[in-house]
Amino acid sequence: MAGPALVVFDCDGVLVDSEPLSMRVLLQTIEAKGVTLDLATAYARFLGRSLASICRDLGETDGITLDEADLEDLRRRLYATFRAELRPTSGIHEAIAGLDRPFCVASSSQPERIELSLRTTGLWTYFEGRAFSATMVARGKPAPDLFEHAARAMGHGPEHCVVVEDSPAGLLAAEAAGMRTVAYVGASHAKSPTHRSALERLAPDIVLDDMRRLPEILKRL
Ligand SMILES: [Mg+2]
Repeated sequence: MAGPALVVFDCDGVLVDSEPLSMRVLLQTIEAKGVTLDLATAYARFLGRSLASICRDLGETDGITLDEADLEDLRRRLYATFRAELRPTSGIHEAIAGLDRPFCVASSSQPERIELSLRTTGLWTYFEGRAFSATMVARGKPAPDLFEHAARAMGHGPEHCVVVEDSPAGLLAAEAAGMRTVAYVGASHAKSPTHRSALERLAPDIVLDDMRRLPEILKRL
């Protein structure tokens, strides 16, 4: 088999088209605390990061604190929004059906959110038992810990893995782990030239517009 032995998918913005929904809900929470952020700034600061690191950033940069009740409320609204509106990324079902090698998911989100996202979009059956969350490691993306943990659990060395990511934080994490990288730019939030060039600056092995092409491009990696 040509190409990497294991495909590690990010979840948000790669398997599911969740970023516009989660950013909308997050910005409502931040606005309720008296801070207004525009969408481009919010994506640049928060994309691909765990809620724990977003909270740290909000404390340090904006001086606002989200307490446990705020986070509980945010999750409740987010999950309701996902149940009503979340869709898979275009072509992901075909891409997965076409893969001829093992794969897993490694996400900054909590395990319950990963499962909800994948169940809602009909993808859970592919990832049950192969879903890894930042809550399982000490440091979230852009640190390499989560991708290293996922690869180890799946029984592959980093040099045999490729990571499919939509965020700069995720690409940095994959590169720090010594893995090959596919930057996916086909999700709703990723279509701006600014976002694309931010990813291209990190020199991913491949920039992918159409998820349906994934099985074929893996053979050339
Ligand atoms: Mg992502």
